[in-house]
Amino acid sequence: SIRVRYAPSPTGHLHIGNARTAIFNYLFARHNKGKFIIRIEDTDTKRNVADGEKSQLDNLKWLGLDWDEGPDKPGEYGPYRQSERKSIYTPLIQKLLDEDKAYYSYRTEEELTADREEQRARGVMPHYEYEYAGMTDEEIKQSMAESEAKGLKPVIRFRVPKNTEYAWDDIVKGHVSFNSDTIGGDFVIVKRDGMPTYNFAVIVDDHEMKISHVFRGDDHVANTPKQLMMYEAFGWEAPKFGHMSLITSADTGKKLSKRDESIIQFIEQYRDLGYLPDAMFNFITLLGWSPKGEDEIFSKQQFIKMYDENRLSKSPANFDNKKLEWINNQYVKSSDEDVVMDLALRQLIAKGNLPKQPDAKTIEWARKLINVYKQQMSYMAQINEMASVFFNEPEQIDGESLEEINNDTAPVVLKEFAERISKIDIFDKVEILSTIKSIQKDTGIKGRKLWMPIRIAVTHEMHGPELPESIELIGREKALEHIDQTLK
Ligand code: GLU
Repeated sequence: SIRVRYAPSPTGHLHIGNARTAIFNYLFARHNKGKFIIRIEDTDTKRNVADGEKSQLDNLKWLGLDWDEGPDKPGEYGPYRQSERKSIYTPLIQKLLDEDKAYYSYRTEEELTADREEQRARGVMPHYEYEYAGMTDEEIKQSMAESEAKGLKPVIRFRVPKNTEYAWDDIVKGHVSFNSDTIGGDFVIVKRDGMPTYNFAVIVDDHEMKISHVFRGDDHVANTPKQLMMYEAFGWEAPKFGHMSLITSADTGKKLSKRDESIIQFIEQYRDLGYLPDAMFNFITLLGWSPKGEDEIFSKQQFIKMYDENRLSKSPANFDNKKLEWINNQYVKSSDEDVVMDLALRQLIAKGNLPKQPDAKTIEWARKLINVYKQQMSYMAQINEMASVFFNEPEQIDGESLEEINNDTAPVVLKEFAERISKIDIFDKVEILSTIKSIQKDTGIKGRKLWMPIRIAVTHEMHGPELPESIELIGREKALEHIDQTLK
């Protein structure tokens, strides 16, 4: 049966690349009516951060993922945190030691570093060199006893078979093979602190949890031969592997690096900016995977239905900000008014553009404002920028805008407009529109000469949402004030 897992290390917030790994495993499981499991890989205790696990899970939930087994949802194969699975690892490590497939290694970090430097100087790829080379069993015992006596703490290394091919048919990359002599020598499976390494724990857990397929990032390809050796050593069948292409930045063409500031990389940040989770799910799913045909907007259910792991792309996935914004805008436009209202209101409040506890009248006003910008927004934080004319005193009128009002007709239009709007009963877009039309009828001034001076005088901008609506939102008092200043 199909069982896949997403195995985050709780070293920080959910990164876009990890979210993608989670989504592809999730879609594969759901499409095949299999199980999706979350396993926390927290054996690298130095790198774990407080709340790392919680943040990972929260953000996965936000994206709309659910799982069948995990640290918060115990199933048959728990525990689901590696730090709690030591009693499972210990006898298996002992088995490898007993069979001489693993051994204690006392080489210190300083010695290992010196080895590597010496190898580099010789023009050899740095690797671990067997520290007991040429020794008899007796001598090895002796050497270990001496190291113990010195108080040295050993690691446990896996004995890598010599000159052996380790190959697999990768679901994404096709046939991949490594010669065991090229992987850097006998690798560590238990660290000095007694914790198993990622490579060891991952194969034990994938085996014990009956994982059938492993979809993970390309950066793990070089780990796979090591893992295959251990499957072989235990006589276990390995899962099928699919290594997904890297994500590159559309701007630089380079691999997305966590330091690249041109791209927002953590799901949490998208959330804070008021992106919609379904839109993010949609966008991320298209990073290195594509359906048949040209369409790009799909719901989670549609993705589940059509997901096909054979359509994962071999070539790097281009992270294109414009596409991200376009997809998000599609979702904002088709979202319920209340959803947009709620999220955008939060942004306005967070920015200090609205009071923390807006009264009913303010909310009513904000609803109109948000509706004006709904079609344009990719994410809700944009409302603060887009609608800044409604919150801040406008900039000086200058340049092109100034030219638009430096003519004979502009003052006429503005005077008429000011006079007429001070008299209308209900100050709303309908009345404002008919006021503008009445000026056209009475003065004969029309088109750009009529509309542009009003827009510039009231908003100090040449572009913006529908003019009558904008003026309604700015309010009569401010509109008159701005016109007054312009006429001076
Ligand atoms: N904990 C590993 C990571 O975060 C998981 C790798 C794997 O899926 O085997 O990269």
